[in-house]
Amino acid sequence: MKIYNTLTRTKEEFVPMEAGKIKMYVCGPTVYDYIHIGNARPYVIFDTIRRYFEYKGYSVNYVQNFTDVDDKIIKRANEEGVESTVISERYIKEALKDAAGLNVEPATKNPKVTEEMDHIIEMVQTLIDKGHAYEVDGTVFFDTKSFDGYGKLSGKNIDDLMAGARIDVDDNKKNPTDFVLWKPKKEGEPAWQSPWGEGRPGWHIECSVMAKRYLGDTIDIHAGGEDLIFPHHENEIAQSEAANGVPFARYWMHNGFINIDNIKMSKSKGNFFTLREIAAEFPYDVVRFFILSGHYRSPINFSRELMTAAGTSLDRIKNCAKSLDFIVKNTQGEMTAEEKELSAQADAFRVQLETAMEDDFNTADAVTAIFDLVSFANKNVKETSSKAFAEDILNKLLTLCNILGIKPLEAEEKGDTAKIEELIAKRTEAKKAKDFATADAIRAELLEMGVVIEDTRAGVRWSYAK
Ligand code: AMP
Ligand code: ZN
Repeated sequence: MKIYNTLTRTKEEFVPMEAGKIKMYVCGPTVYDYIHIGNARPYVIFDTIRRYFEYKGYSVNYVQNFTDVDDKIIKRANEEGVESTVISERYIKEALKDAAGLNVEPATKNPKVTEEMDHIIEMVQTLIDKGHAYEVDGTVFFDTKSFDGYGKLSGKNIDDLMAGARIDVDDNKKNPTDFVLWKPKKEGEPAWQSPWGEGRPGWHIECSVMAKRYLGDTIDIHAGGEDLIFPHHENEIAQSEAANGVPFARYWMHNGFINIDNIKMSKSKGNFFTLREIAAEFPYDVVRFFILSGHYRSPINFSRELMTAAGTSLDRIKNCAKSLDFIVKNTQGEMTAEEKELSAQADAFRVQLETAMEDDFNTADAVTAIFDLVSFANKNVKETSSKAFAEDILNKLLTLCNILGIKPLEAEEKGDTAKIEELIAKRTEAKKAKDFATADAIRAELLEMGVVIEDTRAGVRWSYAK
């Protein structure tokens, strides 16, 4: 299996430290509002990568933090006149709801900054003790000059960075590239006791601490959006390697941006849609499918037209699965010799999907493998096929979909299979009783839900309208 490692800028063969086990850390959102579509990308991408590892038999220890101490949270809390934790707890709940909607497997652990303060203080102290950090008037800075590898992840040269005007010059810093590990309390801000007075941590230290605490000094994979490469991940490496004396993460993975009109979607630019508002228009599974349709390292543009197209594509898969399911429920018998041969042929689609995923998780090509299987099924599985054959192809399709976290037989959040089937049963009753007005009204109601029905000799089939 090959993974593009940002640290080495090459695709490398993936070998975990311990056979069969993977330690993976993914930077999570800052919880001051609903997550936006851009934030949904790392959720879906790294969940899919995790699912693929699990499919291959690895056990994955998956840690994703919530940043619950931050200027934006404090600002929002002050605006609403509540404690910061009211804001952060509210949006942690909402982020978890969105993640569940996207069919993201729960993390092994979701640590929060507020619950790690003693460990954060301990690591800052270690960095001071080892000569990698210094305190000036209650602020503790990391001394970037003290760490040899500074810049190795982002490929930046420390001397260029020093000269760069982009870095704010802080009078108290020894070097312009030094960054804050701990800052003193300001009026109206939450604060914790520390050896350097009351204050709170800088942003970067939390991930070094949480990765160490829940995964160990060296981890297999560290991931996040590409905007985190510098300074966040560069600083994490400096902190962790300076404190622990061993390499931090062996593979660094970064997803590309979701853009709007080729500009990164972000709250600060104001060009964003929350996942919640988009999920009201398009089901969550369409959002997931849209994200998987591109390569994770390439930028993708977001638009309603592209989302509609993703929905139509996903419906092709769903309609195929439903059609197979219908045939399974309404036919009988074992596979014929010819069907056995076709079944063996259909194994090629799993190989195709695996080949795509083994090459740095090319989900776009993995989706193509699913479509190829759909075309194969549409061509070869018929109402006259045996139950065993229809079941076999359906299981193959569900296996491939499951690797990508797609559930084609489950009702989308907007629709509701149970309700659809109940309406179809009522319509069948009405038709039997020759109450055609009711039967027609039910058909219209279903159409309103985006569901079309077809009366066949084997019964009523339904599918989502195209
Ligand atoms: P934040 O809450 O801004 O720290 O972001 C949480 C995660 O979402 C990080 O991994 C970011 O890199 C990622 N992210 C933020 N905006 C985008 C975007 N427009 N496209 C892709 N990933 C993003
Ligand atoms: Zn982080």
